[in-house]
Amino acid sequence: MSQFWSDIIHKLTPYVPGEQPKLDNLVKLNTNENPYGPSPRVIAALKQEVADTLRLYPDPNSEALKAAIAHTHQLKPNQVFVGNGSDEVLAHVFQALLKHDLPLLFPDISYSFYPVYCRLYAIDFKTIALANDFTINISDYEQPNGGIIFPNPNAPTGIPLALERIEQLLKNNTQTVVVIDEAYVDFGTQSAVGLINQYPNLLVTHTLSKARSLAGLRVGYALGSPDLIEALTRVKDSFNSYPIDRLASAGAIAAMQDDDYFNKICGLVISTRTKLISDLEQLDFEVLPSGANFIFAKHQIKDGAELTAELRTRSIIVRHFKAPNRISPYLRITIGTDMQSELLIRALTEILG
Ligand code: PMP
Repeated sequence: MSQFWSDIIHKLTPYVPGEQPKLDNLVKLNTNENPYGPSPRVIAALKQEVADTLRLYPDPNSEALKAAIAHTHQLKPNQVFVGNGSDEVLAHVFQALLKHDLPLLFPDISYSFYPVYCRLYAIDFKTIALANDFTINISDYEQPNGGIIFPNPNAPTGIPLALERIEQLLKNNTQTVVVIDEAYVDFGTQSAVGLINQYPNLLVTHTLSKARSLAGLRVGYALGSPDLIEALTRVKDSFNSYPIDRLASAGAIAAMQDDDYFNKICGLVISTRTKLISDLEQLDFEVLPSGANFIFAKHQIKDGAELTAELRTRSIIVRHFKAPNRISPYLRITIGTDMQSELLIRALTEILG
């Protein structure tokens, strides 16, 4: 606390990301990174970009990257906004599109960054409780609102919501922006991107941090009508003209262009997930259905915090959320390689005796 701070800073409770430990040889299953490296084409593109041209600013409009993303999703470049990770894109979305007189709606159990943005930008919000089985009930969102946002699949549950439900929501909610945060969509969840040309109030956000294995490069994007994209661009151009540096741009373009590699590693993660779920069920875990590169699981007897601590002493890190109470028995486990799953199952077998 300081007398020098602006008023609002005293009241902020910043988001705390999962730990990036300094130790080697950990089985790191806590921040939903991809266990496989980026496409070899990304590495080659990055190496080529390490050159004298780094003395020059990058393209402030990221036109080449927007064109590559538009091509992947069969949209036009003016339907694409790019930023420094989808966290930055989301920050601009909250400020540009979700601050209104009526409250913004999002699930009570969801990405914990959402309330942080609301406090930063003084946005009124209302959380909507998930059903007892942790699913999102669309009809709960049919009430006056200043916007709606949720991840699909939801985080940290991993549960996917069917596309028909999202379309139903869009049909019944035409006056405010609906944001679907598809950070984990490529691991078996249906995307809402195909609805963008029909619904001018739909905005979909994606990241290259998960399925494209580029958490370290920091690139994310939003897809929507040119009108929504222009609002985001106005915020960006009032904030930072160059959120995508030359290296990030080169790497991200190469990643968007290598669909074979992307499909291959998503397939590997999905098959490891299937096996891990059945192995955990053998150990008396209940695992929620997952359309993500992580699972949310609770043991029938042993508490989530205790299990997390015991795994840590065996050099395996998973994520545990203390609050709210409803999710404190659960572990959020990132899907790693088959070998990492095996180490996890071995450790849990030991712990559970
Ligand atoms: N949305 C959700 C639901 C997430 O879990 C994350 C990762 N923490 C993000 C967005 C942001 O990802 P990034 O900033 O790496 O693109």
